[in-house]
Amino acid sequence: MKNALLSLLFVIPASVFAQTQLDLSYYLPDGVKLDPSIPTPKSVIGHEVGEWHVSHDRLVNYMYALDKASDRITLEVTGHTYEGRPLLLLTITSPKNHQNIESIRQQHLQLTDPAKSASLDVKTMPAVFYLGCSIHGNEASGANAGLIGAYYLAAAQGPEIEKYLDNTIILFDPSFNPDGLHRFSSWVNSRKSISISVDANDTEHHEPWPGGRTNHYWFDLNRDWLVAQLPESQARIRKFQQWKPNLLTDHHEQGTNASFFFMPGVQSRVHPLTPPKNQELTRKLGEFHAKALDQIGSLYFTQEGYDDFYYGKGSTYPDTQGAVGILFEQASSRGHAQESINGVLRFPFAIRNHFTTMLSSVKAINELREEFLNYQRDFYKTAAAESAKDPVKAYVVGASKDKTREFHFGEMMLRQNVDFYKSDAGFVVPANQPNYRLVKAMFEKRTKFDDSLFYDISSWTLPLAFGMDYQELKTVPALGTKVTELKMPVGRITGDNAKYAYVFESYGYYAPRAIYRLLSHGIRVKVSNDVFNHTDGKRFERGALMVSLENQDLSPEQISVYIKEIAQKDGIDIWGFNTGLDYKGVSLGSNSFSALHKPTIAMVIEGGVSANDAGEMWHLLDTRFNIPVTLIPQSVFNTANINK
Ligand SMILES: [Zn+2]
Repeated sequence: MKNALLSLLFVIPASVFAQTQLDLSYYLPDGVKLDPSIPTPKSVIGHEVGEWHVSHDRLVNYMYALDKASDRITLEVTGHTYEGRPLLLLTITSPKNHQNIESIRQQHLQLTDPAKSASLDVKTMPAVFYLGCSIHGNEASGANAGLIGAYYLAAAQGPEIEKYLDNTIILFDPSFNPDGLHRFSSWVNSRKSISISVDANDTEHHEPWPGGRTNHYWFDLNRDWLVAQLPESQARIRKFQQWKPNLLTDHHEQGTNASFFFMPGVQSRVHPLTPPKNQELTRKLGEFHAKALDQIGSLYFTQEGYDDFYYGKGSTYPDTQGAVGILFEQASSRGHAQESINGVLRFPFAIRNHFTTMLSSVKAINELREEFLNYQRDFYKTAAAESAKDPVKAYVVGASKDKTREFHFGEMMLRQNVDFYKSDAGFVVPANQPNYRLVKAMFEKRTKFDDSLFYDISSWTLPLAFGMDYQELKTVPALGTKVTELKMPVGRITGDNAKYAYVFESYGYYAPRAIYRLLSHGIRVKVSNDVFNHTDGKRFERGALMVSLENQDLSPEQISVYIKEIAQKDGIDIWGFNTGLDYKGVSLGSNSFSALHKPTIAMVIEGGVSANDAGEMWHLLDTRFNIPVTLIPQSVFNTANINK
């Protein structure tokens, strides 16, 4: 059956074939033997890959089916998206490696520990390859290619693939952004005609606001690898840090008139903290991709357009950690087929290019395995020498007036496996640690650049981004306790069961949440416009919040319950007052206090509104402050009554 279809391929140009008689053999390399006990994608998802855009639920079903059928695959759910979709990770390797997977992981991690790495024999160690698809949900050919990639890795037979699976641990993420992929597939499938219009103006190519690029709250997940504030990133970074892969590939789409891009990017825009050897390995990988794309006749380009500068992107983040990150960009058909300057670009063609470079990546990491393993070992071994040359020996970072922000900053460092220590001023981060380059990437203020152009983000000094107090130190101070876990801080209550009023300051990150909760319970809250003092000497600046016990609908006992909740949940310190008198500042009944009113918030969305900006605000109000916001589409806003 397969041979007959293959011979058909030789007489019918691929683009026509893709439209009329799409078959799995269009994608697969010639002559590959396949294990018939492994289900094909079509047998589970109900259509040939590329005929429709796979929805995330069907993709999940297929990955579970592969896990069940193949002893090369184990599947785990690493987390969930905001919309409750599972984040899947398939570990794909030989059955023999699966039996020793934990000891392989432990040994692999020793490559990143200079105290242990010298004695390791890389000849006998597998490489670790993290392969991820379509972090931008509307760049769907990556995730659709992943169906074939996973099928091939489970089903292909013969000495070559078996050798590869013996020598590689593949961490396979079939969808980096399930909510975005699902949103996009729903749209594009719902606008598909039987006789596809290839006109770029067709509705199929114009998904509605906000588009499928982003996650539920309209964040670009491919800018979140370093700060990892979103559940998709957190699950992924946990796995990355558990395994410390040698290679990470990131499958995207670009403009319809382009061809196919693989890294390296523009050489003058490689971040200076990335060792030159990283780019040398990237070029060596490129030779494998070029050869594979030459074989199927696909056009491609490299060393142009894209760059390896911002470490918060998937293809650059690994460069701070002894790995190599690779960006792939396929010209987008967006829908199922679209005209381009290169002729009609069909979705299956886009999928085939990604699948082809998935295989060339597997081949490349195998051929270059020892070089990658040695590079990773050297990367961590040379960190001490690099930090010795650096005049900055440590960073001290903290937020004295906001322990919750300090906590969240610490959380971020823990997530990234940074060594840091508790100090009176917050945290001390020594430069001399295996993660020296990652620490430097997070903390340095870079103001000079070799090139004046960037793909996008050019500066991101994280203590400044978090609004932290921060200092570079020329000597390492005495280190306190190493931080290995952090708990959300609980506020202190000074003067419990107050008779007269409760006061808290406005510095806390969660102060808006606390205020909104009080107002929601019908408690009257005032804000001071002048300074005042507690009898214990504590001085309150303008902006402090005051809840008097008189003039309230709730009893003092009920109010104290909600006040304690602020200390517990929001990490804010509370002061109880038993008198309103203050001769040094204003007294609590002063007209310098203004009453706060519970806000009713609406935000205009859609139309020309930036989804990234709107989503950031929605996420902040909804998930951090628990404040409801009405998202009013522009078209509704024009006729809406917004008096309330
Ligand atoms: Zn992209």
